Amino acid sequence: MADYLRDLRDYPVLPQVEPGALIDRLPAHGPEQPETMQNILADFRELIVPGLTHWNHPRFHAYFSISASGPGILGEMLASALNVQHMLWKSGPAATELEQVTLGWLRDWLGLPSEFFGIIHDTASTASMHAVLAARELAAPEARLTGNHPPLILYESEHTHSSVDKGALCVGIGRENIRHVAADGEFRMLPSELEAAIKNDLAHGRKPFCVVATLGTTSSSSVDPLKDIAAIAKRYGLWLHIDAAYGGPAALLEEHRHILDGSADADSMVINPHKWLFVPVDLSVLYTRRPEILRRALSLDETPAYLVTAEHDRAVNLSEYALPLGRRFRSLKLWFVMRYYGREGIQRILREHMRFAQLLVEEIRNDSRFELSAPVPFSLVCFRYRGSDDENRALLDRINTTGRAFLSGTVLNGKFLLRFAIGNVATTEADIRETWQLIQSLV
Ligand code: PLP
Repeated sequence: MADYLRDLRDYPVLPQVEPGALIDRLPAHGPEQPETMQNILADFRELIVPGLTHWNHPRFHAYFSISASGPGILGEMLASALNVQHMLWKSGPAATELEQVTLGWLRDWLGLPSEFFGIIHDTASTASMHAVLAARELAAPEARLTGNHPPLILYESEHTHSSVDKGALCVGIGRENIRHVAADGEFRMLPSELEAAIKNDLAHGRKPFCVVATLGTTSSSSVDPLKDIAAIAKRYGLWLHIDAAYGGPAALLEEHRHILDGSADADSMVINPHKWLFVPVDLSVLYTRRPEILRRALSLDETPAYLVTAEHDRAVNLSEYALPLGRRFRSLKLWFVMRYYGREGIQRILREHMRFAQLLVEEIRNDSRFELSAPVPFSLVCFRYRGSDDENRALLDRINTTGRAFLSGTVLNGKFLLRFAIGNVATTEADIRETWQLIQSLV
C-alpha cells in the first residue's frame, strides 16, 4: 500500500482495457483448495491493478476528485481488523459514541445548529433517501401503516443529483411527483420558479412536502440560493433537505461559510467526507434536526426480541435511525483524518484546491481556443474547446487515453464540456500545470 501511494504517478489513471478483460483471465469457478497469499498477491498485482481506474491518483480529475488519505487508510484498516458491528450501543459502545463525537466535531466545524443529529451512511444516495423518507413520515404518517398516501410532491432543481430522484422512488413518491425546478444562467435553482410550482400543485389539490437544495451541484458545482429556498420551505411547511455532498466542506472556510446561510432552518443535510474531506470511500453523513421523525418512519409495532436491550438515556441504538441493521465502524477513519490534519490542516488543503482551480481559470482565459462554461465557486472547473460537441468529446478521449490524467464530461446549456475536478490531497500545482499543458497539446 505504501509503495502504491508513493508510485501512483507512474500508473495510467485510466486503464486501457476492454470490457470483460478480467473475467476472461480469471477461472470460471472458485478454488477448491487453499492458495498461498503469495499467489493471491501476485495475481492482485498482475491482473487486478492494471485493470483499475486509479481514483487515488493525483491527476484523477473526473467526476469529483477524492482521496483516501494516509490516516484515513489506517482508520479503515483498523476498522476491518476490529470488525465491529455497532447496530446497537451494546454491540459497539465506543463505535456508537465515536460516531456521535466525530459528527459533533464536524457539525461544529461547519457551524451547523447544535441540535442537528448526525448519522453515518455509506453514500449520499442512501442518506438522501432517508431524508425523503423522514419528510414523507412527517407529511403523511399514514403511509407507514397503510402504504398509501395522497400525491406528495418533491421539488429539486434541474441540476439536482439523480440520487435524490432514486431515493424518492424508493420511498414511493413516484416520478410524476418529482418537480425539476428551472435554474438561472448560473445553474442555481430559481426561487420564483419553485414557488410558482408549489402554488400550481396546491391549486390542483396535490401536497407539496419536500424541497432539496444543492450546495455544489454535480455538473457545475453551482450553489442553490439556500436562504430564499429555506424561506419558501418555511412558508409552505416543506421539509428542507440540503445536498452538500460535494460542496459542504467549503463551509469549513470562513470565506465560504455563507453557503450554509439558511441551514439553520433545514430539516436535514447530507455531506460526504468521502468526497472532499480525504476520508476513503465510503462515508457519508446525514444530519437532521428531527431524528425522532426518522426513527418513527422506521419503527415497527414491536422490536424483535433479539434486538431488545436495556434502555439508557445515553445509549443510542443507531440502527433505529437507518434501514440497514449492520453498521461498519466508519467513524474511526473520520476521527483519524480529523485529528491528523486538524481543522487548520484541512482548511489549508481546501484553500490550495481552490487556488489550483483559479490558476486553471486564468489559463483558460488566456488561451483563446478555450472558454469557461460555468462559474467556479469551489474546485471544479468546467470548460470547453471553442468547437463542436464532437470535437470536445474527441479531445476528452485523447486526454484520457494518454493515461496521464482523467477528466469527465457533462452537458450544460445543451453543450458538451469538460469537467476538471480538483480534490485529491496529493495533487500539486505542478500536476495541474502539467495536465493543462497536456490538454493544450492535444487540441
Ligand atoms: N449529491 C451530489 C451533489 C453528488 O455530486 C453526488 C455524487 O457525485 C451524490 C449526491 C451521490 O453521492 P454518493 O455516491 O455518495 O451516493
